[in-house]
Amino acid sequence: MPKNLQIKPLTEWKEYNKRPFVVAGPCSAESEKQVMETAIGLKKTGKVDMLRAGIWKPRTRPNSFEGVGVKGLPWLKKAKQETGLPLTIEVANANHVYEALKYGVDILWLGARTTANPFAVQEIANAIEGADVGVLIKNPVNPDLALWIGAIERIYQAGIRKIGLIHRGFSTYEKTNYRNLPQWQIPIEMKSILPEVPMLNDPSHIGGDAALLQRLSQKAMDLNFDGLMIESHIHPKEALSDAKQQITPEELGVLLDKLIIRSPRPHDEQQLNVLEELRGKIDWLDNQLLDLVEQRMQVVENIGEYKKRNNISILQNKRWEDIIYKSIEEGAKRGLSREFINRAFKAIHQESINHQMEILNGVPKKR
Ligand code: PEP
Ligand code: MN
Repeated sequence: MPKNLQIKPLTEWKEYNKRPFVVAGPCSAESEKQVMETAIGLKKTGKVDMLRAGIWKPRTRPNSFEGVGVKGLPWLKKAKQETGLPLTIEVANANHVYEALKYGVDILWLGARTTANPFAVQEIANAIEGADVGVLIKNPVNPDLALWIGAIERIYQAGIRKIGLIHRGFSTYEKTNYRNLPQWQIPIEMKSILPEVPMLNDPSHIGGDAALLQRLSQKAMDLNFDGLMIESHIHPKEALSDAKQQITPEELGVLLDKLIIRSPRPHDEQQLNVLEELRGKIDWLDNQLLDLVEQRMQVVENIGEYKKRNNISILQNKRWEDIIYKSIEEGAKRGLSREFINRAFKAIHQESINHQMEILNGVPKKR
């Protein structure tokens, strides 16, 4: 676990103190005209806080459009000047960092493939050392929390205190509705480990499809994410990369207007009291649950002692199948999913076997 990281929360990133903090722009910068028209369209929505664009594009297969390279930097600088919006671009090696800093890029971002590679992250960290710049770190392509934390630590050790994270989903071999599986529990766990670190969501690369953007963005807001990074192109259909997931600046404006932003915290004393009362009930019910499980284990131990005396083996498959079957039926009547009951009862069953094993082996009871 990381210790003593003094990372600045978004509220202290000067002008970036807004929720949702919205980063938008094309997947790739393609031409000066495309960059300028997109940036001006985004500014017009009044809801975008930072421009994004890729100029070096990590592509899965060769011979696809790999970005315009340094040629795009003056276009982006101009877009920043004309709109007054700060700018972020992806960097994947030390040279990218030097070029980006030369052109006054405000925030650098590490792509998912880069975060997965500690050599690349360290090279970037060394190049950034001493620079007054913020860094956004996308989750690694594989669902590995430690790798993500490692990237934060490397950038932190280079003296950077404005560090934010971008949840862009995780690749899978199976085909799913998503381009990258969200696995929301991973950014949520990250939030509990490093609560101060700003967390943005990238519904464009999770969904891979413009049709999924609204729902994913709303979910991110409901999970208290600080902001969104969404790809927007003046003519999405003609985009040279990620055409299916990009939307026009006008469409982005509509999407952002439709978002319902709920407060992460109660507004006043009265709301707080209502929540406190309900939480009290939950705590009481959780205690009841634990008492019941404890009672169940006592009966299980009695059975274990009986089995020991009479030389009967612990695992009785048929009996267990009946329990699961009955519980799933009963659970369904109570609106509990099959999958949940299966998982919960398997865990209870495993604990029961452990208790009986202890009795069989003559281990003294913990209780
Ligand atoms: C991108 O943001 O265009 C990009 C390449 O994203 P990722 O690193 O999440 O694949
Ligand atoms: Mn993209």
